[in-house]
Amino acid sequence: DERLVGCEFRRDDSEELNLRPRSFDEYIGQDKVKENLMVFIEAAKQRNEALDHVLLYGPPGLGKTTLSAIIARELGVNFKVTSGPAIEKPGDLAAILTNLSPYDVLFIDEIHRLNRTVEEILYPAMEDYALDIIIGKGPSARSIRLELSKFTLIGATTRAGLLTSPLRDRFGIICRLELYTHEELKKIVKRSAGILNIEIDDDAAMEIASRSRGTPRVANRLLRRIRDFAQVHSNGKIDLEIARYALNALEVDEMGLDRTDRNLLLCIIEKFGGGPVGLETLAAATGEEADTIEDVYEPYLMQIGFIQKTPRGRKATRLAYKHLNIEPEQGDQL
Ligand code: ADP
Repeated sequence: DERLVGCEFRRDDSEELNLRPRSFDEYIGQDKVKENLMVFIEAAKQRNEALDHVLLYGPPGLGKTTLSAIIARELGVNFKVTSGPAIEKPGDLAAILTNLSPYDVLFIDEIHRLNRTVEEILYPAMEDYALDIIIGKGPSARSIRLELSKFTLIGATTRAGLLTSPLRDRFGIICRLELYTHEELKKIVKRSAGILNIEIDDDAAMEIASRSRGTPRVANRLLRRIRDFAQVHSNGKIDLEIARYALNALEVDEMGLDRTDRNLLLCIIEKFGGGPVGLETLAAATGEEADTIEDVYEPYLMQIGFIQKTPRGRKATRLAYKHLNIEPEQGDQL
């Protein structure tokens, strides 16, 4: 039961690899983050130092992995990829760290999911480029320090607040990625269409962009699905008509919401009088994970002004009622 407009990586996204921008020039949007990173990279290169550790945070599919690969490329170093859940034991991380060459970039996706014992290995590694290893057991145990190559750790997470503070404090550069504007997503759609050899009209690209919930991964995914409709139902070219037809068939509405988004809003409105309702309560009522609601659904629903976060929980806004064609009832707090 995977969502078409879900932002998480899906198996059929493997074609995505060809669509990955390989340089800052190709990487559309996130201008402030790019500008700053370019300065830090240039300075590190001039000083012949490893780039300071970087934490990238923001909803899935916004380009954190892509940006990290570009950073490594700009630095002219190797790019090693792993993820929090993939590193089970301290020894796994130690093996990765001791295999790094000087100035390499180590990318850890979902870094908030590292377990505590593994995380503690990272502290001296990030701070002093060293590993503290305990040899022996009991009274004769002693600790020896192993030097590592200087390296850059790039951690990615959905929310910076998910990291423990000792870990967060060890990142010198912290960047938040923003949801993309329709104009930026339109450029991304057109760029991807070019790479995939798909003919697409400007207004059709804009239509896809505006239904992609601010997320490049979703935009690329919709483009590929719509290509199928264009191929089967017409001559393969994507014009506005076929784009709209396909998006409706895919049950992605004019705002880019799918059934899960609409259910979430309906739940707030119908079961909780429009809210405010607490995150955990909402999770229980919809059968979604609280983290998923917070990291995947909410950022976009808040960005388009359909949900408001208040100290007492989440509220559906007047715009959400309007979008769903529901008249507020007396007592609904809008
Ligand atoms: P994240 O690591 O944040 O989940 P990814 O880096 O895997 O996201 O990006 C998902 C896909 O979206 C990439 O494969 C790429 O094709 C596309 N993409 C992401 N950011 C951009 C961008 N700024 N410009 C163009 N395409 C992008």
